[in-house]
Amino acid sequence: MPIDYSKWVKGCVVGRRDWTDDLFSLQVEAPAVKFTPGQFGRLALPIDDQMVGRPYSFVNSPVENTPHEFYIVRVDVGPLSPRLAKLETDDAIYMAPRPNGFFCLTEVPPGETLWCLSTGTALGPFMSFLRTADPWPRFRNIVFVHACRFARELSYRDMIQRIKAAHPDQFQYLPFVSREDTDGAIRGRIPDAIRDGRLEARAGLKLDAATAQCMLCGNPDMVADTTTILEERGLKKNKRKEPGHITVETYW
Ligand SMILES: Cc1cc2nc3c(=O)[nH]c(=O)nc-3n(C[C@H](O)[C@H](O)[C@H](O)COP(=O)(O)OP(=O)(O)OC[C@H]3O[C@@H](n4cnc5c(N)ncnc54)[C@H](O)[C@@H]3O)c2cc1C
Repeated sequence: MPIDYSKWVKGCVVGRRDWTDDLFSLQVEAPAVKFTPGQFGRLALPIDDQMVGRPYSFVNSPVENTPHEFYIVRVDVGPLSPRLAKLETDDAIYMAPRPNGFFCLTEVPPGETLWCLSTGTALGPFMSFLRTADPWPRFRNIVFVHACRFARELSYRDMIQRIKAAHPDQFQYLPFVSREDTDGAIRGRIPDAIRDGRLEARAGLKLDAATAQCMLCGNPDMVADTTTILEERGLKKNKRKEPGHITVETYW
């Protein structure tokens, strides 16, 4: 069967940024695709006579008039990401017309402190909504945690610096690096640092059911282990019919 291109929006790669050998960002011009910060789109390429598409979170923010941006890791065993890694400016790329997902601020109940907990490429949804005006009147404190294996994987520091400069008293950036000691970063994993109190000590804030809203995104082990620890502290999963404190999105 020939590929039915009518189901896809044809976009164009208009820029790329390489962070490490495996991590890269693609800027994609596809203005017909509209999204809410925190959502993911579907990027696709024709491979062996079929369209292969995968979800990717928007890093860009609709309040800025920029191309769409996606932060991607090349997974060698996968079909799509190694091909995305080879794309250059002016190459064609396809997108599903309608983004999806509920990892959005509108889904998060009120709280005093918003804990944004991400691993690897899952910083995207946070970068997207932290650059809008929406979170700042809603939360007194916003803590953005980005956990990686190596210091060189702590990408988007320029963007994070700009968020900090715009909200110096409200915003904290707490990087984690698990496999090497790094100035300014906590060594280890997010769930362990919640359990032993290091995350709260570094933030100078309590992480409890009375004050916290937690958004967890990325590695399924981090999401599962962190959810368990937060539940032990009395926080509950956030469901539409039953508002709680833990809103999650896993990447695989
Ligand atoms: C809601 C959602 C949003 C996503 N957003 C992003 C994003 O913004 N950036 C991004 O790089 N990926 C993201 N992903 C993962 C992405 O959709 C693909 O799975 C990934 O790019 C690999 O694609 P693939 O076809 O090469 O291999 P696949 O066949 O899709 O995956 C092969 C294996 O790779 C591993 N894997 C998948 N994604 C990752 C990852 N991000 N980090 C480490 N290991 C991984 C898993 O073990 C998986 O079984 C998201 C996934 C979901 C469900």
